[in-house]
Amino acid sequence: MRFSKLLIPTLKEAPKDAVLPSHIYLVRGGFIYQVASGVYDFLPLGKRVLDKVRNIIKEELDRAGCQEVQLGFVTPAELWKKSGRYEKYGAELLRFEDRKANEFVLGPTHEEMMVELAKQFVSSYKQLPMNLYQINLKFRDEARPRFGLMRGREFIMKDGYSFHADDEDMVREFNLMEATYRKIFQRMGLDFRVVEADSGAIGGEGSKEFMVLADSGEDTIVVCEGCDYAANIEAAKRKMPEAPTEAPEALLNRFHTPNIKTIEELSKFFSVDPYYLIKAVAKKALYDEGKSEIVLFFLRGSDELQEVKATNSVGANELVDVTEEELEAVGLVPGFMGPVELIRKAEVAEAESPFYEEKAHPNLTMVFDESLKDATDMICGANEKDYHIVGVSLCGLKDLKFADLAQTQEGDCCMQCGGKLTYTKGIEVGHIFQLGTRYSEPLKAEFLDQNGKSKPFVMGTYGIGVSRLLAAVIEQNHDEKGAIWPVSVAPFEVVVVIGNAKNEAQREAGEKIYNELKAKGVDVLLDDRPERFGFKMKDFELIGFPYAVVVGKKLADGHVELIERATLERQEIALSDIANIVAEKVQ
Ligand code: ATP
Ligand code: MG
Repeated sequence: MRFSKLLIPTLKEAPKDAVLPSHIYLVRGGFIYQVASGVYDFLPLGKRVLDKVRNIIKEELDRAGCQEVQLGFVTPAELWKKSGRYEKYGAELLRFEDRKANEFVLGPTHEEMMVELAKQFVSSYKQLPMNLYQINLKFRDEARPRFGLMRGREFIMKDGYSFHADDEDMVREFNLMEATYRKIFQRMGLDFRVVEADSGAIGGEGSKEFMVLADSGEDTIVVCEGCDYAANIEAAKRKMPEAPTEAPEALLNRFHTPNIKTIEELSKFFSVDPYYLIKAVAKKALYDEGKSEIVLFFLRGSDELQEVKATNSVGANELVDVTEEELEAVGLVPGFMGPVELIRKAEVAEAESPFYEEKAHPNLTMVFDESLKDATDMICGANEKDYHIVGVSLCGLKDLKFADLAQTQEGDCCMQCGGKLTYTKGIEVGHIFQLGTRYSEPLKAEFLDQNGKSKPFVMGTYGIGVSRLLAAVIEQNHDEKGAIWPVSVAPFEVVVVIGNAKNEAQREAGEKIYNELKAKGVDVLLDDRPERFGFKMKDFELIGFPYAVVVGKKLADGHVELIERATLERQEIALSDIANIVAEKVQ
């Protein structure tokens, strides 16, 4: 192809809102064009990269026995109502009606549709296992679309769904998909890690994310310095922290703490390690059908609440902040909240209980972090202005609900090997998930097993952020001049730049090299534009083709220049050798 004929609108200036290199270079390099917030057109170069990414994904998936299909982007709302996600999915789900008032959604993911398909056509265990996938548009009305292709509203995803007769076979497929995804991302030249991920309210162990390591990543990953443990911070586990030696031993009692509200102030006031303070975090948990409740989460003062873990612990759709007024309305005293009700209940049997019934707050849902199991010598809020309680023990308190709520911190110890845990940043480009019967059951998608018994499909689901990958590749491969595409996904593998388009000899040599490379199957672009040489080189650096062959002044001695984009190193090569050398480099 010829540069002069292609629509490659390179720009000098980056869009105002672009901060990430990938966003800047994809727009400036003429790959994409923003038409609305979070909605992009792919221009010829962008489409070429997209197709290469798609092809790699398709090749590996087909090799692993998956079957490509393509489902409607417009999805009947009916199916979403049946699965219970019509409400649950919240504002990200774009709902609309057709002229006959039939309700639809634009698919943000396709579990419902794919389950419906299997339900229609798969009825016997003999047809299992089956893995169906598509590479297709998704729409999520994201609250904050940003960073170009990284977080769009309309974006392209590969989503796959597998159907099995039992758990064991589903786990086999899950492992096969993990291996397949590894191959896919390796072929794209990405530096990535496979991490344990949050499985949402569904729970279970089987959820892994593929994270491209990049400082600009929106996800925090916890990695162990000593072993291969890696997890998304939303799911990261740790070895229970050890107790600091000096515990504030005291008899259970109320203590006057005038205006001492924060963990920091309290720790100073009592001269105790925050480990021995009970931190209370109140949130409003939102459930289906508009239901909500205020939930109190308790942690050690040395820990922070991990919101995803907290959300899962109560099976909520979302946690939102509460105002002081809302807390007061349910009898809580902001700044002095504690599990007083529970302590009072335990103590009330004893005649000399230091607590008064009216000081106890009403029955609220309370969840304790697992590190508080059997905690003693604790200090907590008295749920009374300017008072805390000292000498609190959670031993023997009945029916406490414990869950892993605390955010794993840098410096915590690895559960697997005891090594030091640290943070790093990643871009989520893939997610594989052991679903079980979460959708097949409510949607009544069943098959007949060997004994003629009806059973719901056991499912797995597997996603790849196809358009996001374009951004992820650039985040890992760029310099201050522009993008640096790996050969496997580059828009063209090499550009042949005619130094001076007015020079007949240069033009002829350029055409000759171009044709030779094409004949050898190299994906080559000829920059035949009547522009200044410097201008064309700037475009080469900005767009980031892996190689450039420059046909310039040295042609007089029978030489051309080969430039490698990654290093910008130049090499003089004889005209007669250049096609072979380039072909070798890109193959
Ligand atoms: P995120 O946590 O980044 O919002 P997610 O967990 O909601 O992603 P999944 O439902 O697992 O995403 O979707 C599968 C893949 O689709 C993700 O791994 C990601 O690469 C991609 N993806 C998700 N949301 C977007 C988006 N708004 N824009 C581009 N790609 C996305
Ligand atoms: Mg995900």
